[in-house]
This record gives sequence, structure tokens and C-alpha cells, in this order.
Amino acid sequence: MQLYCESVTEYKRLKTREVKIGNLLLGNGHPIRVQTMTTTDTMDTMATVEQTIRCIEAGAELVRITAPSKKEAENLQNIKDELHRRGYTTPLVADIHFTPNAAEIAARIVEKVRVNPGNYVDKKKFEQIEYTDAEYQEEIERITERFTPLVLICKENGTAMRIGTNHGSLSDRIMSRYGDTAMGMVESAMEFLRIARAVDYHQIILSMKSSNPQVMVQAYRLLVNKMMEEFGECYPLHLGVTEAGDGEDGRVKSAAGIGTLLEDGIGDTIRVSLTEDPEFEIPVCMDLVKRYQLASGEKEVARSTAVVANIPAIEKLPYSPFEYKHRESFEVSNIGAKHVPVVIADLSKMETITPSSLQSIGYTYDEATDKWNISDGAADYIFTGKAPLDFALPGTLKVITWPNHWEEASDQSKYFPIYDASGFVEATTKSDTLNFVMVDCFSDDSAINDFTHLDELANNPTVVLCLSSTHKHSMPAVRRMFMELMNRNIKNPVVLITDSSWHTPDEHLIHYATETGALFLDGFGDGICLGMTQESYKEQVSSIKNASGRNYTNNTTVEQFINSTAFTILQATRTRISKTEYISCPSCGRTLFDLQETTAKIRARTHHLKGVKIAIMGCIVNGPGEMADADFGYVGSGVGKITLYKGKEVVKRNVDSNIAVDELIDLLKENEAWVEPLV
Ligand code: SF4
Repeated sequence: MQLYCESVTEYKRLKTREVKIGNLLLGNGHPIRVQTMTTTDTMDTMATVEQTIRCIEAGAELVRITAPSKKEAENLQNIKDELHRRGYTTPLVADIHFTPNAAEIAARIVEKVRVNPGNYVDKKKFEQIEYTDAEYQEEIERITERFTPLVLICKENGTAMRIGTNHGSLSDRIMSRYGDTAMGMVESAMEFLRIARAVDYHQIILSMKSSNPQVMVQAYRLLVNKMMEEFGECYPLHLGVTEAGDGEDGRVKSAAGIGTLLEDGIGDTIRVSLTEDPEFEIPVCMDLVKRYQLASGEKEVARSTAVVANIPAIEKLPYSPFEYKHRESFEVSNIGAKHVPVVIADLSKMETITPSSLQSIGYTYDEATDKWNISDGAADYIFTGKAPLDFALPGTLKVITWPNHWEEASDQSKYFPIYDASGFVEATTKSDTLNFVMVDCFSDDSAINDFTHLDELANNPTVVLCLSSTHKHSMPAVRRMFMELMNRNIKNPVVLITDSSWHTPDEHLIHYATETGALFLDGFGDGICLGMTQESYKEQVSSIKNASGRNYTNNTTVEQFINSTAFTILQATRTRISKTEYISCPSCGRTLFDLQETTAKIRARTHHLKGVKIAIMGCIVNGPGEMADADFGYVGSGVGKITLYKGKEVVKRNVDSNIAVDELIDLLKENEAWVEPLV
């Protein structure tokens, strides 16, 4: 087994050391703690206190506050005193970048400090410098000299510490040896961890954040592996996806990254970074965490009503959990091989399906011209479960239905049947080109039969497998089936089918993103089909319409919500790009403009630019380093001033913020990244 968790087939929390943060115990099987970070100016004591209280009232168990320099670090004392005066003793965390002096002050005041090993001692210059072994060792000695005093202060004051590596801010030294890789992130943290262990300090939590969930998941797994190999034990892990953005995108990206690791029992505390007010992050954290905790505090995957069967254990993974590689499959129609994953919209719960029903899934019929407008987020297939439709379909759309209805269809180039595994094996009539076959993985004693049917379905050139599971730990059940396919050299393409029985739009989003995101991030899946149980569907008809803000309007239908979620999951896992990608920081006390308002303005002008990555970052100190692989950057560089980037290169410095969005659009045009929006 490539060791990175306790089990890939059974839910078990990864055993980690216990860390005490004020009165809060974290790691060693304690409940997964939820946290956030304030966005106010740290020098504004009252505003920071008020916002911290809102976060605590929402459920935050730790609140982080930025301390960019000595004066903010000192003001943490006033903030803490005022909170205590009002009866709030939730532990506070000082967020430090670049300023050891501020860290050393903060470590004597608050319960925990966070340092970024990429910039605690090093200044990021974006220079590709070659280091000899001797020079590298000298650098380590320089770090040891500068970092040890902070460790000793923490040790003396009982202060905890997070060594928080960010993918976007690795030091030049790490970049020169490991490049921009998950291994570079791990080594960056390990260097600091070794220094702390050398003076017998262990109140440490680690994080490996990236705005790319693929990199983030690999880095955490590698870190666990490396800690076990070198120390024979693990320190607790703080999970997060950086600069995830806002709304649906931010939630899905966070859930795909964080949820993938939680499914494997990894993670002792989480923060969901949204470009929204920090208290809005907490319900999302709670939705993620409650999937693994019953009310009693017993550690167990929730949704425990399903039939419990054992998922067969496995000795060796037939793929690497530390690097992304798409599982090899053959092509059936437009599914599998090199095709991007297809999206199947489940319309089976609609009473009647008319041309206007298809608007929810990206097809708008224009009666005047008798033409269909097809959006970038248009589903590829619909599942109706009904008789053939009585209208002509848009050119690219195909229909999946039960075999008896499929047989009624006059145009069999547009209609395809779906069977269960035994139904397909026994069927006398099948499509010559494309048959969908459902396999419910390890849901009951039929597990053995599932394997038996596999051999009968194996490598049939017309069969697309549709894997799902009603097992209470369903993602690992489906993943185990993928392992079986790989071990048996079965290369049929696979569609992931996930139903949700949760209640609120956010719970559904998190469920879908965790269950399917985890599989896509491991390279599994050639298609996605999301659905809801009948009860949830009925609930959502009103709840999505009433959900305030974000991407939902009063007219949002369940089908539209699900279709949009499917495309957002594919975008977040970088398996199919259908829209603009925004990498926006959550903002903090360093932020130099209204990030939420500016992000909304930029989104309104650029949301049609499929595949373009735009970073919107609050400050020039961390922004450029943190904006990862963005194509263009909009970064606050002074009060009322914005600096624009193309990749990591400054192209327009200190632009007046009143015209900065227009200047960004001009920059996109100059670089052929712009297309006129359709009206
Ligand atoms: S990039 Fe954003 S969140 Fe990060 S330090 Fe700057 S303003 Fe704060």
C-alpha cells in the first residue's frame, strides 16, 4: 500500500498527534475543528472584535487575524482583551507572512501563530537560482537561526503553530530544487518541522494549500507519507483550498479538495476560503464535517441508513495517489479515451419534457429562427426514463432511457438504452453502438455478483459502465470498483452516478463535489450524472428558488442547479473547462479594496471567457505569489491603486482603481484572451 491514510476501503481517521490551542484540543481523533479568518483591518480593534464574534457565533472554533507588522501583532492584545471582556475565549491565530518580528510578538499574545515557510525567512524574487548542496545547506542553517527563536517562544508560552505552505509562495530555493510541485510543498514544510522537532517542540499543525485541488490533494497525501516515513508519526493537518473564489465555484472547489481528503480520514481542522464575509464560510465547513460525525460525536460516516456491506480490502493500489493520471479507457461514441467527461442531465423527475425544459440544461430554443442556442454549460445527454420525446432535439443532445422506451424510438442515433448489469447480460435487444450499464458497487451481498457481471461486460465495445453506490461510504466503494476494473484490465469508459438525499442546496453541492470530485481527482470518470432522491427533489423545488444570493435566482430549477453543479465540479477538478476561472483571495486585514464588489464587477464583464484564469488579489505583498497559475492578475498595490499582471509579469503598475477593470479588459484584448459577449 502506498501509505497516505489508514484505509482506502473503510472510514478511519488518520492518527495524528494531539495539539492544544488554548482550551481547544485538536488532532488525535478529536472532532474536526472549523475555522475562518477575519477580513477587517487588524488596527481597527472594534471592527475586528465584532467580526470575530460573528464568526464565533456562527460556529468557528478558531479565528485567524492577520499581523502584517509589529503594530498589528501588538494590537492582538487589545483584540483578545476585548473579546475576553465580552466572554469570548475562542483561541485566536496570528497570520504571519514575511515578518518574524511580528510573529515573535504575536506568539506571546495569541494561542497560535501561522507561519508560511515560503516567506518567513526568504523573500520571493521569482528567480530561478541554482543552489549547490553547500549553498542549500547554508540556507537551511540561515532558516534555523531565524526560525528557532520563534519556536522557543511558542514552547515557553504554550503557543501552538501552523506551518502553512502555499503552492503559490514556495521559496526560490525550494523552486530551484523541486520546482512548482507537490513534493516541493512538502519539503518546504518538512524543513521547518525538522527545526521545531530538533528543539523538542511538537505543538504543530501543517497545511499544504493550493488553489488547484489536484495539487492540494497530492501534497497532503505526500506529506502524510513523508511524515510517516521520516518520523513514524503524523502531526495534525489543517485542510484548505486557497483563493477558491465565491458562490458555487468557491464551495465546489473547496469541497472537492477538502472532501477528497476527509473521505480518506485525513484532516483535523478545515477552513473554506471564500471571497465572502468570513462568517459565511462556517456553515460550509460544518456541512463538510457533519458528513463524518454523528450527533453523539462518534466518528462515523453519516448517511448511515444504507445497507452496510464490507468493501473488499485491497493490498496495493493500481494507480499512484500522489500524481494525476487519467485512467485509460476506450472510446464509445463520444465517451471515454481522450474525450472530456460528458454531462448527463437527469430529467426523469420532470412530469413532461418540452423544448423549454431544456433551457435548464443549456439549450435555448428560439421559435422565430427555429434554432437552438447552445451554451458552454450544455449537457451532452439527458436521462428521461420515458417514451421518446415528441419534438426534434438540438443537434448535439442525445437521450438515454429504459430499454422498452428505447425500442420505441424511431431515430436510434439519438436514443440509447440503460440497463442494470444482469438486465444487460440477459437482454435480447441491445444498441449496436452505445449501451449504458448500471453497477451499484458493494451496496449489499450482490458485491460478488457485481464482480461476476464485470467479466461479462468487460471490454464490450458498446458498453459504458455507470457506477454508483448506496453504501454508506459510497465514494470508496466506487473507487474500489475502479481498482477492480484496473486490476482486470477492463477499459470500458465509466460515468459516475451520484444521488443526494440531503436537504439544502449547500448540502447537495458539498455531497456531489465530495463524492464525484474525489474520483475525478484520482483520474477516474469519463462522465457525470447527478440526481436526487424523490423526497429531496420535492424539497428542492422550493428551497433552490428561495435560496438567497449566489448563482440562484427565483427561477432556478432543480435541473439547472444540478447541471451547473456538474460543470462546476468538472471545472474545479480541471477535467473539463467550460467557464472563466476566478482565483480570488478571501481578503484579510491587508486587503486594499472591496474584494467582493470588485470580484462581482470583474465577473460581470468576463464570465463568458471560457478557460481564462483571472486572479483577483487583495494585496501586492502576497497576491502575486499566491495567484498560482492565473493567466491575468488584478492586484491591490496601494490605496485606490491596482497593478495588473499577465502571468507573473507586471504589465500595468498602480492603475487608478476607478478605471482598473476597463484596463484589465484592454489587457485581455491585447492578449487575444477576449471575445465579445453574445447578446
Ligand atoms: S492576498 Fe488577499 S488574503 Fe492573502 S494576504 Fe493579501 S489581501 Fe490577505
